[in-house]
Amino acid sequence: MVSGILTVFSSLLPRGKSCPTPSLVSQPGFFSLNFSYRIVSMNISDLFKYKKVLFSLEIFPPKKDSPYNVIYNSLLKMRGIPADFISVTYGAGGSAAQRDKTVEIASLIRTTYHVEPVAHLTCVNNNRDQIDHLLEQLRANHIQNIMVLRGDITPTAELSDDFRYASDLAAYIKKADPGFNLLGACYPEIHYQAATMDEDIANLKYKIDAGVTQLATQLFFDNEKFYAFLDKIARANITIPISAGIMPITSLNQIERTVALSGASVPHKMARMFSRYSDSPKALFDAGIHYAIEQIVDLIDHDVQGIHLYTMNNVETATRISDAIQNLLDAENLPRINT
Ligand code: FAD
Repeated sequence: MVSGILTVFSSLLPRGKSCPTPSLVSQPGFFSLNFSYRIVSMNISDLFKYKKVLFSLEIFPPKKDSPYNVIYNSLLKMRGIPADFISVTYGAGGSAAQRDKTVEIASLIRTTYHVEPVAHLTCVNNNRDQIDHLLEQLRANHIQNIMVLRGDITPTAELSDDFRYASDLAAYIKKADPGFNLLGACYPEIHYQAATMDEDIANLKYKIDAGVTQLATQLFFDNEKFYAFLDKIARANITIPISAGIMPITSLNQIERTVALSGASVPHKMARMFSRYSDSPKALFDAGIHYAIEQIVDLIDHDVQGIHLYTMNNVETATRISDAIQNLLDAENLPRINT
């Protein structure tokens, strides 16, 4: 049994890289595996081959005026969460000064918390030299997984001469260094610039043809929209793994901002919850967490391949949701060992 688990574990490691050396340690009443740890980087698309459902977190670097130790403290408290990977956003909201911090935080996730990081990278305001510089930083920090994104077009930032779409960035990176594993974004309720869902899905295929091996969705609150999207992309012969993006909404302010930014539709059940608890922030907080958990339980019941939790750096919501679904994930992911 143990050697089977070790076989599964070691098969996840990339060839030619150093790996942890396992040793069996006897404890009163049970055996545990003790790894003397060395840094390895893992192509996380391999994980989808061995686990039925992945669970990942997304965090963002602190805003310009926020102290840095806030994110470090949050990560410290989140380290009990058994995430398959943690992704770190890049310049979201246009905070250019913070951009280099994506690599720094992703590196910390790898070295201090031993969780596989994914660094987001947008191209809409970057030229080739800037991308080359960032790729060099990622390589130097053993970060193998990149979420390739276009980024939002804003009136104040200069557009790149070299990249127009996320697929351009994917193709460029794959040519420069095929060793990087690329993730991409997709939109169960349509990207706001696409005329039709069919057009958006046709464009999504360019990204996959350019080397993206797995997708994470824009957040959504209505699982039926996600299931309808899965049907459509299956009909378009898109077969790469997709993680469902879930964001717990725990305050009235958050719902207005989030709906405006994401365009996600708000189901009647969620609207009712907000109206019922609008005068009670604590009840609303709890209700928002329960709503996200219900969404995830339903997704797991529908054989979702991954849950990508938009944590908004909120330790309490991430921990409560993770605790609530952990037994389900464990049951889904029972090791399947070939005998
Ligand atoms: P693309 O895939 O390039 O698509 C953008 C639009 O162009 C779509 O309408 C698409 O249909 C169309 N299109 C694509 N290719 C073509 C083509 N070849 N010809 C014609 N039309 C085409 N933003 C940040 O700034 N930082 C982040 O870290 C970040 N992380 C994100 C993570 C996730 C999981 C998601 C869902 C979004 C994230 N975003 C982030 C937001 C994202 O940058 C925006 O949604 C952006 O508007 C689109 O990015 P994209 O990579 O999906 O673009």
